[in-house]
Amino acid sequence: MGKIDGFMKVDRHLPSSEEPATRIENYKEIFKPHDEKLTKEQASRCMDCGVPFCHNGCPLGNFIPDFNEAVYNNQWDKAVELLLATNNFPEFTGRICPAPCEGSCVLGINKPPVAIEHIEKSIIEKAYDMGLIKPNKSIHRNGMTVGIVGSGPAGLAAADQLNKVGYLVIVYEREQEIGGLLRFGIPDFKLEKEVVSRRVNLLAEEGIEFKTATEIGKDISFSALRSKHDAILLATGSTVPRNLSIPGREFSGVHFAMEFLTQQNKRVSAIPFNEVDILATGKDVVVIGGGDTGSDCIGTSNRHKARSIVQFEVMPTPPSSRSSANPWPEYPLVLRTSSSHDEGCDRTWSILTKEFIGNADGVITGIKTVQVKWEEGQMIEVPNSEKIYPCDLALLAIGFVHTEQEHIKSQLQVGFDARGNIDANNYQTKLKNVFAAGDNRRGQSLVVWAISEGREAARQIDLFLRDETDLPIKSKSEYDLINTQ
Ligand code: FAD
Repeated sequence: MGKIDGFMKVDRHLPSSEEPATRIENYKEIFKPHDEKLTKEQASRCMDCGVPFCHNGCPLGNFIPDFNEAVYNNQWDKAVELLLATNNFPEFTGRICPAPCEGSCVLGINKPPVAIEHIEKSIIEKAYDMGLIKPNKSIHRNGMTVGIVGSGPAGLAAADQLNKVGYLVIVYEREQEIGGLLRFGIPDFKLEKEVVSRRVNLLAEEGIEFKTATEIGKDISFSALRSKHDAILLATGSTVPRNLSIPGREFSGVHFAMEFLTQQNKRVSAIPFNEVDILATGKDVVVIGGGDTGSDCIGTSNRHKARSIVQFEVMPTPPSSRSSANPWPEYPLVLRTSSSHDEGCDRTWSILTKEFIGNADGVITGIKTVQVKWEEGQMIEVPNSEKIYPCDLALLAIGFVHTEQEHIKSQLQVGFDARGNIDANNYQTKLKNVFAAGDNRRGQSLVVWAISEGREAARQIDLFLRDETDLPIKSKSEYDLINTQ
């Protein structure tokens, strides 16, 4: 434990950001880095609990009290070693993770929790600054190869793990650039793409091969890929968006959120695209869906200079603090206000979208809605509560149903579960050398879960190919290993 009474003397502080009116003028990451003094003060709030619930809250089992202590004691090399023992990419999670670890922080029972996410970001950025993050170019190859389909966080984490233990890993990606949703979904104001490129370059220097603009299923069949490698991992994400099949869906101006967000990420990175521009500039924008993707649409619409932005959520307003049905250390299901909300929008809850209204040219002009109430899990429309919102751009951000199945189904015959995700109990599909990890297996989730799945799948692949493995199980005490070296 760094400072015995830190949690009593120091309040939680997050890094500052530009004022909303200033930051919406650009796509730069909105949070400024922690300065060193502040990071150490924040780390001193960790109580080093006898049972650190934060380990369990984190899908990666990060050694949080241990790296907090190292930060407080100025041992940055130890802190980064601890962090990288369980997390391949803390520079991503330190920026965009909703931090389930903080939801289970013991201090959070009666005070704001330790600012774990931002400490994580500070550690890895300090390590880059100090030159501690270097490619390992002396990996001994074991003669076997693994092909990975998809370069999102699940594919990249698996590639990193397998490369470290000697496999020649080839990552196949259909887009022009590596990173999956890290690059083409999550906006730059949350995660600048130089951060993704910095890590991808490091992985390439360590020997991982990346084949971009290569769609498996079309350019190379899944079955041919399977024959080429000792094992393959499907890390194709959950990319089929949930649709809203209501009258007027066909009007021009109604788009899936990802059509809008991907274009903007490409624009910021000067990556050309063929589709017609979708811009919110000067428009009345309605974002349908109250989650994170919806929030990213709001931040992007504000940067486009929309005339107005409204966000619809069909569920009721969440409570401002935990309900008795959602006790600590569960992830707190409370009202969240993202940085994008702070930049300006109207939020409405318990609202159901009934119909898109359009003009004679087939262009959207409004949205018809009705208020709903929820009784014993049943949604009931409130009589006489219909309303029409003006709208010239409607963005559907109501989730994703599953991975794209067509080519996988016809070329590989792996199984799918009832929700349409790839059936891969313990990451192995019913075809012995075909594995799956990430959103295509667990359904649309989080970056931290994708990294966790990639790590676990890599371990199962190593076990399958060699009958033994040195790759860690989640939370297995690598920390003990480090301490005894
Ligand atoms: P993906 O990141 O989807 O990567 C899959 C990759 O596979 C893609 O690059 C795709 O092009 C490629 N691919 C698919 N099929 C083929 C094929 N046949 N051949 C070659 N390549 C193929 N999570 C957070 O934790 N924090 C956030 O702030 C956050 N924000 C989000 C914002 C948006 C807009 C969205 C949509 C999601 C967000 N998420 C966030 C969720 C998170 O991004 C995903 O859970 C995570 O990226 C899943 O990782 P993955 O590797 O399984 O799949």
